[in-house]
Amino acid sequence: MPIDLRSDTVTRPTPAMLEAMFRAQVGDDVFGEDPTVNQLEAMAARLFGMEAALYCPSGTMSNQIAIKCHTQPGDEVIAERNAHVYIYEGGGIAFNSGSSVRALEGDRGRITAEQVSLAINPDDVHRPRTSLVTLENTCNRGGGSCYDFDEMKKIRQVCSDNHLKLHLDGARLFNALVATGKPAREYGVLFDSISVCLNKGLGCPIGSILIGPAAFIRQARRVRKVLGGGMRQAGFMAASGLYALEHHIDRLAEDHAHARQIAAALEKKDFVHSVMPVETNIIIFETGDTVDCAKGLSQELRQKGIFCIAIGGNQIRMVTHLDVTPEMVGEVIAVIEQL
Ligand SMILES: *Cc1c(COP(=O)(O)O)cnc(C)c1O
Repeated sequence: MPIDLRSDTVTRPTPAMLEAMFRAQVGDDVFGEDPTVNQLEAMAARLFGMEAALYCPSGTMSNQIAIKCHTQPGDEVIAERNAHVYIYEGGGIAFNSGSSVRALEGDRGRITAEQVSLAINPDDVHRPRTSLVTLENTCNRGGGSCYDFDEMKKIRQVCSDNHLKLHLDGARLFNALVATGKPAREYGVLFDSISVCLNKGLGCPIGSILIGPAAFIRQARRVRKVLGGGMRQAGFMAASGLYALEHHIDRLAEDHAHARQIAAALEKKDFVHSVMPVETNIIIFETGDTVDCAKGLSQELRQKGIFCIAIGGNQIRMVTHLDVTPEMVGEVIAVIEQL
């Protein structure tokens, strides 16, 4: 059996999660009549101390809906240059919202309030109107790095002072919450909207939740319909989300411990030039200087039964998750030691 560290999206529902899905009460959610979807949305909103929430098929759709609601065509969105909303959503900001992106160079994916402040366009007809800032926490391309909460507060202040909306791509927000011990409610105070993935570390087969004020979520529900994301008896899937919010949050700490163990093994190897600090469940390390050296190493690992992803020429990413057991971590470390 290969050990799949390509992403935390590869998990399969546990027997208990499947059981919860099988037993779900359902109705037509486009009519607002699916009790399980309604329960999931209410639970997510309550968790973050916000008014309402919207169940979406994917994190990409949650992010794109939020950006569409917060902008007008011709506007500009401030994001980090490796942000998922910018580089991994198929050009969706241009496609769906007709907005451009001001891409800032962050520290492992994180931008500062000062950078945001300097990137806001003046009120000048030549310039696109800056209307939205998006942050990502944890930062995927930053090796699962977590934002400093005080820096996010400062960014909130800059946004408020300049009438900008602030969206959080919280695909892995629960990893950040578990790693930093911050309560979810403090995020609800800071952001105008938050998207959270259920299909990553939380182990659901699909799904994401967009959370925000009631008026925003009403508009978001319209945009979801336009994008074809209105689902009917979605309660079977939403039940997996409810199950995950109840049972799969605290255990993320195990994934983080596993990631640290694998990183420690990598750090001892000569072919590893550097390992990004491991704060959550993502390990990104650099290997060699030649173009495509990461591809070679990932192929070698694949032959030994370990799947990972070469991102960029000399970087490899490994992600720990629900389906990676302590025994598998031991096996991965043994293979690394023999390389
Ligand atoms: C995975 C991910 C998303 C959304 O992904 P989907 O596969 O569309 O659910 C958004 N942002 C980040 C940072 C992600 O890692």
